[in-house]
Amino acid sequence: MVREYACRKCKSLASGKLCPACNSTDLSKDWAGLIIILDPEKSEVAKSLGISKSGRYALRVS
Ligand SMILES: [Zn+2]
Repeated sequence: MVREYACRKCKSLASGKLCPACNSTDLSKDWAGLIIILDPEKSEVAKSLGISKSGRYALRVS
């Protein structure tokens, strides 16, 4: 399985070299904790992480 990248700016997961959420190229392979946000307006996790769009995110990016 190919390891995905996580965006250092918005923590979104990307399969390529460009973040699909914010178009940043500041991606890291060193991340941990996959979270899937389906409904950011109702998700406490999304609020605490400052996520406003649904998608797949890393909990920690280093
Ligand atoms: Zn991003």
